[in-house]
Parts: sequence; structure tokens; C-alpha cells
Amino acid sequence: MTRFQKTFCWLVLLTGFGLFALGVRSARYRYHILQQWPITVAEVTRSRVVYASQDRKPRYLAEYQFRYRVEGAPYTASTSVVRSDYRDAQELVSRNPAGSTKRIRYNPANPAEMEANAVYNLEFFKLPLIFFGVGFSCVFVGSLPLLLAAPRPKREQVTCPNCQRLMDRGRRHCPFCKEELVRY
Ligand SMILES: [Zn+2]
Repeated sequence: MTRFQKTFCWLVLLTGFGLFALGVRSARYRYHILQQWPITVAEVTRSRVVYASQDRKPRYLAEYQFRYRVEGAPYTASTSVVRSDYRDAQELVSRNPAGSTKRIRYNPANPAEMEANAVYNLEFFKLPLIFFGVGFSCVFVGSLPLLLAAPRPKREQVTCPNCQRLMDRGRRHCPFCKEELVRY
């Protein structure tokens, strides 16, 4: 293994650990939102599907605008959910049409910040899960070549007194001539 390959593997490995750390941070923050951010009922002031293409992949944003009050002060906020299928996005939007209400969570330290879909599900924890998945892959891909290339302690060799062939120490019988090996 060359020095360059070794450095590269270490970099991949460290990136993996970094992604794990980010995953933990992100998961903890999401959990914090679910535990600490108060719930309020917001009015949906706009809900629509917006076409947002990236590369050649079609993407549709189910875009919402909310209006809510915290301690009498009015706030507006908008969120969007990405879907690759137009009908999926359309269905999401139709679930929360303009004029309807939705329970949302807002940041008590900054009520303008809100989360419309903070629930215990895979969607809300998607980002930390991606971090964990990619981090695990990096750790695996980075450490495997390093482990395989690690120098193994050489086992001590002995010579058979009968056939003179070399073998690892610790055998009772020579694997070649079946001679019993006696330590002198
Ligand atoms: Zn032998």
C-alpha cells in the first residue's frame, strides 16, 4: 500500500467519523424540536406545487405559507417539501389547502422559525439517517484496505527434524511427514 493510498483511506475514514458526528448532532436537534418546541395552530395562507428542476430530474415542491400568532405577535413562515412525482406533491398540497389549519411547532427562542412536519417519522429524521448511512459507508470503505494491509505479526517458524520443512510453531505433528514434533 502506497503512502498516498494510506492517506486517502485515512481521509475517507475520518470523513466517515465526521459524518457520524453530524448525524448525531442533527438527530439530537430534531429530537430537541420534538421535545421542546411548543405546538400552535397555524393558518395555511398559501399552498401550491412549484416545479423546481435540478439537473434533468424533475422535482416538485409542495410549498406552504403559514400565519400564526405567538403571545399575540403575528408571524408568517413558509416551508416546502420536495417530491419527484407531481401527483405526490399535488396530494400533499391538497391535504393542507389555503384556508385550512395545521398544527406546527415553533422555536420558543425565535418564533419566526417553525417546523410544520415535526413528527417521529423517517421523513423528519431523514437528514441524520443520510449522515449515518454515508458515514458508515465511509468508515467501512476507508478502514477495510487499512485493516487488510496492516502488518500481521509473523508467527515463529520451526523446522521439522524429520523432513526439514518449515511450519508455524505450535503444532504437535508435522503436516508434511506426520512426524511428532518434540521440543528439545
Ligand atoms: Zn516433517
